Amino acid sequence: MSRDELFIAYMRAFEASTKHLGACTACQNDQPCATGAPVHSEFITRQNAWNERVRAERKQP
Ligand SMILES: [Zn+2]
Repeated sequence: MSRDELFIAYMRAFEASTKHLGACTACQNDQPCATGAPVHSEFITRQNAWNERVRAERKQP
């Protein structure tokens, strides 16, 4: 996956997670619903992948 693809996937996942959170009281109360759980977990996965990428780049000379 390219850097841009990685970032776009991260932003899309962020938007989806934020959008769901805004409309779902269960997820707001830290009790992810069946719909929200995979959305939020996708966001965490994408966020971690992006952070890993940035960290790897910082190690370059
Ligand atoms: Zn939810």
